Amino acid sequence: MNAARRFAFPLFALLMLALPALPVPDFWITQSNYIGLYALVALGLVLLTGVANLTSFGQAAFVGIGAYTTAFLTVKLAASPWLALLLGVGLAICAALVLGAVTLRMSGHYLPLATIAWGLALNYTMANMDWLGKYDGLLGVPTLHVFGTDLGTGRGLHVLIWAIALLAALGCTHLLDSRPGRAIRALKSGTTMAEAMGISTFRYKLLVFVLAAVLAAVSGWLFAHFQRTVNPTPFALGKGIEYLFMAVLGGIGQVWGAFLGAAVVKLTEDQLQVLLPRLIGASGNFEAIVFGVVLVVVLKYAPDGLWSFISARLPRPRRVRDWDGAPALPARDKPAQGEPLLRVEAVRKEFGGLVAVNDVSFAIDSGDIVGLIGPNGAGKSTTFNLVTGVLPLTAGQVRWRGQSIGGMASRRIARHGISRTFQHVKMVADMTVLENVALGGYMRSASGAIRAMLRLDRAEEKRLFAEAERQLARVGLSEYMHELAGNLALGPQRLMEIARALCTDPALLLLDEPAAGLRYKEKQALAEVLRQLKGEGMSLLLVEHDMEFVMGLADRIVVMEFGTKLMEGTPAQAQASPAVRAAYLGTEH
Ligand code: ADP
Ligand code: MG
Repeated sequence: MNAARRFAFPLFALLMLALPALPVPDFWITQSNYIGLYALVALGLVLLTGVANLTSFGQAAFVGIGAYTTAFLTVKLAASPWLALLLGVGLAICAALVLGAVTLRMSGHYLPLATIAWGLALNYTMANMDWLGKYDGLLGVPTLHVFGTDLGTGRGLHVLIWAIALLAALGCTHLLDSRPGRAIRALKSGTTMAEAMGISTFRYKLLVFVLAAVLAAVSGWLFAHFQRTVNPTPFALGKGIEYLFMAVLGGIGQVWGAFLGAAVVKLTEDQLQVLLPRLIGASGNFEAIVFGVVLVVVLKYAPDGLWSFISARLPRPRRVRDWDGAPALPARDKPAQGEPLLRVEAVRKEFGGLVAVNDVSFAIDSGDIVGLIGPNGAGKSTTFNLVTGVLPLTAGQVRWRGQSIGGMASRRIARHGISRTFQHVKMVADMTVLENVALGGYMRSASGAIRAMLRLDRAEEKRLFAEAERQLARVGLSEYMHELAGNLALGPQRLMEIARALCTDPALLLLDEPAAGLRYKEKQALAEVLRQLKGEGMSLLLVEHDMEFVMGLADRIVVMEFGTKLMEGTPAQAQASPAVRAAYLGTEH
């Protein structure tokens, strides 16, 4: 069955590249040219919207940059179209960097709104500049030549358009299956987990936004030499929405969905443009209404897009286990047993009037297992988030091996060797367990997007997967390696989070309620893993609501209530303390 996947791409590529040589009508070639051009833009949106969860309505404007740059340079200055390609792509990158830098640090709706403004502004510019020909645009764009051969606007150009589109698809497929690709796929589930793995989520958002802009600009460059004229209409906001529609319809998040979406939209659009005015008895762009309705229906009944119907019939690609004997990833020098590691000094967190953490202090030395317990709402998770940099401190200080880390971003704290899990499991549900754990190896590897697209990252990938598999074996989860993380029960998911944290090669591991919601058997398995880590000399801070669970594990217990440290001592002392008992009894029943 895997053969279906292996041969699908080469066969499809061969078909598309050979199509012009086959006795097909010119009209087909023209349609296919459009589909290739649209698919390039939609591909960028698949990465941006489908994978990274960012929305852009402004892709048509990036297409316009590519098209206008080459039209202006070749028509007005008789420059080489290849030089124009470089400049057009360069301009698109600059525009995307500026737009992205301004909006991507902010959450939510800023990017979509900014891309709308950008699309409108650029279109207005094109339509009102004398030197860009205003609404008439620029005419007489030359055809492209490759090795002295005139590609024309039909069969010859088809080969170039599809060669570029197929290479882009291949590059994106490679990218998604790589170290930077997993970082991009992690963006969908929020930034907290990715940042805790040492990933700069801002950088990857910017990267995807720039990549989508580049694909759009290349499409625009081809478009100008295909149409041999440019005017503002094809780069208007409406077209930007149509590109988004293609990506959503075809299969948001799936590379080949971009091609399917582009084909379906292009082919039905032509039919509707003829059919609808005849039915309605008036001329107009009525197809927009139909697309609007279809979009709602698709979002409701096939939220994964049309491609999901095809991919459901294909076997899920399975990573071949090819990493045996891969050299280990670099590891950090471990602190000596007993060396002072973490010093939490009077940390304080206020949420408005609520003091969630009230000047709490404690210390962890290398090899310590410290339990942080207390009733619900005591401030344990908040303390945890202060230590790991998820929340900024209101006051106080956190030191790590003598160095102040209070107020540092969580990904920088992670680089010091502090790794954590979350009270509510944070994972990429549609990645395999192995891939999720490999995210933990992010900081110990280096391949970037270009290396990944060119598949120059395979040796490092093997090292990453060998490490991920080792950590999965450590928590007893090897058998679920190829399972999608979202399909696991809560118990194995929590163990997967521990494996991911271990994959960062931590000097201190912080676990936030690892036993919460687990069944008895799962709790036992977890306790066994933690005992084993303790035996290996791992330092642990264990937040737990369940007192029984920590008693057998921890060397020392810190008890919190209402944000304040109630006591610190051995498990026996904590159990004997009337104050602790009162705190638990007071809130429990
Ligand atoms: P625990 O983990 O011990 O159950 P938390 O640290 O989650 O407790 O919460 C401590 C207190 O701080 C609770 O009263 C909670 O409602 C409050 N709190 C936690 N996070 C926030 C937040 N982001 N905004 C406002 N209040 C919060
Ligand atoms: Mg909590």
